[in-house]
Amino acid sequence: MSEHSPQILVSEVGPRDGLQSIKSIMPTEAKKAWIAAEAAAGVREIEVGSFVPPKLLPQLADTAEIVAYARTIPGLTVAALVPNLKGAENAVAAGAHKITLPLSVSETHSLKNLRKTHEQVFEEVRGIVELLRGLPKDQRPHFEGGLSTAFGCTLEGPVAEDKVVALAARLMALGCDEVGLSDTTGYANPAQLQRLIRLVRAEVGEQALTGVHLHNTRGLGLANALAALEVGITTLDASLGGLGGCPFAPGASGNIVTEDLVFMLDSMGFDTGIDVQRLLGVRRIVIEALPDEEMYGFTPDAGLPKGYHGPWGIPAHAA
Ligand code: ZN
Repeated sequence: MSEHSPQILVSEVGPRDGLQSIKSIMPTEAKKAWIAAEAAAGVREIEVGSFVPPKLLPQLADTAEIVAYARTIPGLTVAALVPNLKGAENAVAAGAHKITLPLSVSETHSLKNLRKTHEQVFEEVRGIVELLRGLPKDQRPHFEGGLSTAFGCTLEGPVAEDKVVALAARLMALGCDEVGLSDTTGYANPAQLQRLIRLVRAEVGEQALTGVHLHNTRGLGLANALAALEVGITTLDASLGGLGGCPFAPGASGNIVTEDLVFMLDSMGFDTGIDVQRLLGVRRIVIEALPDEEMYGFTPDAGLPKGYHGPWGIPAHAA
């Protein structure tokens, strides 16, 4: 791909966000095969699990083993969710490259999801920053504060934008490396998304907000993804087959579909580094391991358009 094409990082979150919201438990070996196959298709970052107590999420009980395995894949950034300091300690011990602590802008959602008030979450953030600063630099994972329910909450309804901005500023002041905006409930629309990205960036700086986590609950996932790119976002979360959602946000369905997102970016000439054809082949692993779960996606159903042959959507004769 030519060097002037904008590089977009598609971060696969299916093994975490997808698997945590379904009843079936994917066998550890299938998770490894899934992660390896996506990395082989060119996916450079995968959120492979969450360090929550196994009794809360038995689907992710093998996260430490999965992190250790994923670390052996060259060039792959291994990300994990951590709900608190204890989770961060486990993530560090397992060797995660990147950790994300979710902070629900809606305090009602925070109490239900993490069983913590905002102040209690900030206490965890302080502890995690202290833990990370005590590590040698080359062993220090990148630490993101993920602002969930940033665009609205199923419990509280509308979420005030100045509250999102204030919480983002607080997370950065406490020592996070960056913040992310999550549309946990699928409430965002493109105009709102662009406005909030601009507001948060104006407060914390462009480098401190590079990624968004979108859901497709109301069918606006790809429109929102494109809107985010237009205002400079370079990292987009997605889930293979749209698997997933938030178990604590009633009514929220899956993430945006990785296959559809990559096809859109690829066909537009964005450089994702991902081979769409190979990515489509990865679905088979998930479908075979989770025969009872629904997999979404238009591109997988319709197939690639006739004459579409990569890499990155540029026909060989036109390259
Ligand atoms: Zn999510």
